[in-house]
This record gives sequence, C-alpha cells and structure tokens, in this order.
Amino acid sequence: MLKLQHIDVYYGRYQALKNVSMEIGQGELVTILGANGAGKSTLFNTISGLNKVSGGQILFDESEIQNKPPHKLVRSGIVQCAEGRKLFPEMSVYENLKMGSYSHRKEKEMVKKRLDEIYALFPILFDKRKDAAGSLSGGQQQMLAIGRALMSHPKILLLDEPSLGLAPLIVDQMFKVIEEIHKNGTTIMLAEQNAHAALSISSRGYVMESGQLVMEGSRDELFDNEEIKRAYIGA
Ligand code: ATP
Repeated sequence: MLKLQHIDVYYGRYQALKNVSMEIGQGELVTILGANGAGKSTLFNTISGLNKVSGGQILFDESEIQNKPPHKLVRSGIVQCAEGRKLFPEMSVYENLKMGSYSHRKEKEMVKKRLDEIYALFPILFDKRKDAAGSLSGGQQQMLAIGRALMSHPKILLLDEPSLGLAPLIVDQMFKVIEEIHKNGTTIMLAEQNAHAALSISSRGYVMESGQLVMEGSRDELFDNEEIKRAYIGA
C-alpha cells in the first residue's frame, strides 16, 4: 500500500532522513520506534507531504506521491494526526470534527454516518460535543485529534506519539482505541516512545536512529531483541 524507497530529506544542509526504505501493507499496524530526534516526525511529515523529498520515491497504491501537496494526499487517504494535536481551541468539539471532513463536505450523509461512528468510538466526544475543544483535558484533546483525523476517511492513518503527555490510565485507553480503529480496517503507522504498549498492538516495527532505519522485525523479534529491550522497553 505504502512504499518508501531510498528517501532522503534535508533541513537546509542537515540530512534528517537518510536512505529510508520501508513498506506498509494494507491492513497492517506498524510501529516506528526511536529516541527523541531520531526522525520519526520527519518521516511522517514526509509521507504526508509537509517535507520536501530530495531523493528517492514514495509509492501509495502504486502511484508516486513524493512532493505532492498535503491536501491532495489527504484526499487520496493519507491522513496524519500530528504530535501536539493542533486543534482549534475556541471551536466546539463538533466543529473540530467537521473540519476533518472538509474534503468530503459535499457528501453530507457520509459525513453524518462517520460522525456517529466516531461518537461511538469516543462517547466522551459526544457528551462534550458543544464544549470548546480548548476546555477538554489532554487525553480528551488527543481523542478529538484522532477523531478529526478519522473524519477524513484515512486509508492509512499516521499517528505521531498519541500517548505523549497523557496519564497512564488514559494511555491504556488510547492504545485500546488505536487497536479498535485498526480492527475496523484502517492501516496504521504509529510513532511511539511507549515501545512496549505500541509493539503489543502491532504486527511489525522499525527502529530509527539518526535519520536511518537501523532495524526491522516482527513484534516478537523486536520484543526479544536485547538491544531493543535495553534501549526502548526496559527490563
Ligand atoms: P521527537 O520525538 O522529539 O519529535 P523525532 O524522532 O520525531 O523526535 P524529528 O522531529 O523528526 O525527530 O527530528 C529529527 C532531527 O531533525 C532532529 O535532529 C531535529 O532537531 C531536526 N529537525 C526537525 N525539524 C527541523 C526543522 N524544521 N529544521 C531543522 N532541523 C529540524
């Protein structure tokens, strides 16, 4: 479904992605592990069209998509839910969700159906639908950000550190919801520092260091790897 071949990305003269090649199949949930600054956000921003690719190719459903504008990529089904949430704090929960359906705004019935599905997935968003997004707790805002991303009907959802800054109990809920979105048929790429929880719901993972992929493997291979255990999972 999504294939990166020898991708290079620069910020000025600094090379942030170095010869990155990876593949995500339809229906997979794949985790990208890496310390702060390893390049996970850069990788996601590159797939979603926010970063310019200097070398290599990105194929999505067989078409080349590198350097296409982000709004076109959203329409074709590549939807990113960014780290840091980026909601419209003054607008209501409902209005924020509607913003996510902008590219489908003419299909009113479909938008309504999708909204109902998202309220079923996150009942708290239904309860708080009239409240300003800025008044929600951190965990609720993260749920809203994911709900808004789902409103755009992703074929592949890029989730950048969805558990960042959340209380442990909320983190558990967050991973359950991600698992459910995946079971409902969405392909997911997940960047996480919370390696144990992320790998637990993934079938495969990649490890990034200094802009390069240094390892890949099935969930069990990564879980059993001593280096990974030490660096990302703990004892
Ligand atoms: P984090 O979890 O902290 O976001 P990350 O793995 O997502 O880490 P990136 O944010 O992709 O890492 O950053 C990769 C490298 O690129 C870092 O060294 C970072 O300082 C650098 N970098 C990121 N954005 C820019 C930018 N706009 N201009 C210059 N350098 C950048």
